[in-house]
Amino acid sequence: MTEQDTINILIVGAGKGGNALIDVFRKIPGINITAVVDKNRQAPGVKKAQHLGISVSEDYVQMLDDADVDEIFNVTGSSKVQEDLEKKVSEGVEVISGHTAKLVWELIKDYMKAEERAEEAKLKAAKEYAERIFQAAPISIFTVDKERKVTSWNKKAQEVSGYSADEMLGRKCNIFADENGMKRDDLYGVDKGEPIVNKECTILKKDGESIPVVKNADLLKDEKGDLDGSIESFVDMTSQKRFRAMIRSAYTELDQIFQSSGDGMLVFDRELRIIRANNTLIKLIGKTRRELIAAYCNRVFDEFISGVLEGSMRKITEGAESVDNDVTLTNKSGITIPCILTVAPFRDREGVLVGGIASFRDITERKSAEKALLENIRLKSNFTSMVSHELRTPLTAIKEGIGIVLDGSAGDINDEQEDFLETAKRNVDRLGRLINDVLDFTKLQSGKMAMNISEGSIEPVVKDVVKMQKPVADEKGLYLKAKVSPGLPSLQFDQDRITQVIMNFVNNALKFTEEGGITVAAYKKGTDVCVSVEDTGPGIKEEDMSKVFREFSQVEDAKTRKSGGTGLGLAISREIIERHGGDIWVESIYGKGSQFKFTLPVARTYKVLVVDDEDTFLNFCKNVLKDERYEVVTAGSGMKAIELVRKEHPDLIIMDLVLPDINGYEVVGRLRSEKELSHIPVLAVSGYTDKLKELDKIELPAEELAIPRLTKPVEPETLLNTVKRMVVSGGE
Ligand code: ADP
Repeated sequence: MTEQDTINILIVGAGKGGNALIDVFRKIPGINITAVVDKNRQAPGVKKAQHLGISVSEDYVQMLDDADVDEIFNVTGSSKVQEDLEKKVSEGVEVISGHTAKLVWELIKDYMKAEERAEEAKLKAAKEYAERIFQAAPISIFTVDKERKVTSWNKKAQEVSGYSADEMLGRKCNIFADENGMKRDDLYGVDKGEPIVNKECTILKKDGESIPVVKNADLLKDEKGDLDGSIESFVDMTSQKRFRAMIRSAYTELDQIFQSSGDGMLVFDRELRIIRANNTLIKLIGKTRRELIAAYCNRVFDEFISGVLEGSMRKITEGAESVDNDVTLTNKSGITIPCILTVAPFRDREGVLVGGIASFRDITERKSAEKALLENIRLKSNFTSMVSHELRTPLTAIKEGIGIVLDGSAGDINDEQEDFLETAKRNVDRLGRLINDVLDFTKLQSGKMAMNISEGSIEPVVKDVVKMQKPVADEKGLYLKAKVSPGLPSLQFDQDRITQVIMNFVNNALKFTEEGGITVAAYKKGTDVCVSVEDTGPGIKEEDMSKVFREFSQVEDAKTRKSGGTGLGLAISREIIERHGGDIWVESIYGKGSQFKFTLPVARTYKVLVVDDEDTFLNFCKNVLKDERYEVVTAGSGMKAIELVRKEHPDLIIMDLVLPDINGYEVVGRLRSEKELSHIPVLAVSGYTDKLKELDKIELPAEELAIPRLTKPVEPETLLNTVKRMVVSGGE
């Protein structure tokens, strides 16, 4: 407010009226009391003015000259003073007296009263508001007087203690205090004369139950500052206590698991500083816990492992859920331990990445078992081929010798001698066949037998076999016929090997069939060509059907012996057909006959989409499927995969279920909702990561979605066979 806006008032007369005017005017903004004038130095207004620092004078005439005055209030009640004033004031200054002064006074009083009422209303509202807060507070609150008698009690206090406000008001609060083992001073703020802050104690509920609480108390004082009671609050800690105990025991459990895990485990922050290490790791690397905790990983591990940890963390920062690596740990004594090092993200409660969890799985045993197995296979196959070769040479010599004696070139022999020699020759022939089969089989099994694949029709192959074996059938009084569907597509196959298979089927059929005959058929089956050799022989029992393709398996001993088989023919056939990407099986009704069948896939390439964010696996797949029959395309994320499927329409999708963006299940879900893509078979391949376990909990299991699943690390052969089967069958 500026100088001009202020009204300067001179009060003449400091008796009762002047005194009241001082009170009124000093509260009104914009009014300034310049001075108070009275002859009586003891007048109440004079005293008040002095107290308030307002100038006081005995002579108004002097004030009129000295001070800046706009209005003069004459409250002396003297008309003489009034006349004198009016004469002496300068122009523009008002002199208010008598009735006018009284009127102004009344007006002001009314105004003040109204103000007061407004204040009261405000106060009441504030009190109501405070009461509402008091009642609705989520903490139990009550007040007590000096005698500890309850003077207020809120709803939460009732809820927790079981006592209602009616029951508590006026009663001493001791009734619910559990004084067991507590000093009274600690319990009651009033007694102690000091506030109580976050005191853990127990209270007795109305039903007698004792519950843990945390209590606070503050002292209440009266106007004079004397102790008048206290305001108290308490919070029920039952659930918190239980919760804390739960957390503690969960932590202990987790720590026990962590410590006793068979894998060496390590938790580190984003700077790769070690936060935790478990006992297994400590033993594995032969360092103390003290050497590990707070050390940077590159101080603890060699350059290679440090690099792997760093690289894995980079991938995790980019969204990978777990990264597997092959590493070699060197312990204190310099012994190397082959390990799979898996790094997974370490997140805080809010899911923010704060570091990594690494586990070192010692695969020494697995490695040496693998090595032993490989060695075993190598030795076995070397041994068999060596033995077979070594046997073949003398056998040829024996065969030749027998031949020479039998055809009489070495002189005459009698009938009995001829008989013996014939038997010897049959057995030598049989031994020769066995050796050939064993050789074939080991070569096929070890992958050493190269297939001589060329494109052609199956028809001449079938017909040739039938023509060759016709005399044998005729001799046994059996029919043998070929039935080839017209217009079969051309195939890519090894002619000699496929001839060998059909020959094996036909030979077996001729061997076991005594009546009726054999039909060799070739026809289209789906996208494949199927060859079937059907006989009217004894058939095979249901339980034996899966056995006949196993090596050295003969189901009917006596008969087989009579027929002179080796038990390797069908096993060899199976190998040959599988190498062609086909299927082989038998259908039979025991007592009625058998149908031995195989399929060969029509020559075509299959497009395989591999989805994984790890290059290692993508490259592994490319390597396994390097055959020209496969064209491999890759995607590093779920969304990219969907985009590629739409564009490329692959014949098979090999997919890791854990992907950086949307998970594999979601990818499958989206593909299945699109009509043209829904039929594409999916092969899930995944490691055992936590993320996967989590996924498996919320998603339908792969089995239910009819998605076959392989677990990393996958054997190349398993992958190849599964892929072969899936592309040919279209995932059925
Ligand atoms: P083998 O040289 O002993 O015939 P295979 O592997 O060719 O060996 O056959 C294995 C076994 O399967 C035979 O010993 C026989 O028990 C059974 N088998 C094969 N073909 C037939 C068939 N057409 N009818 C009945 N049993 C058969």
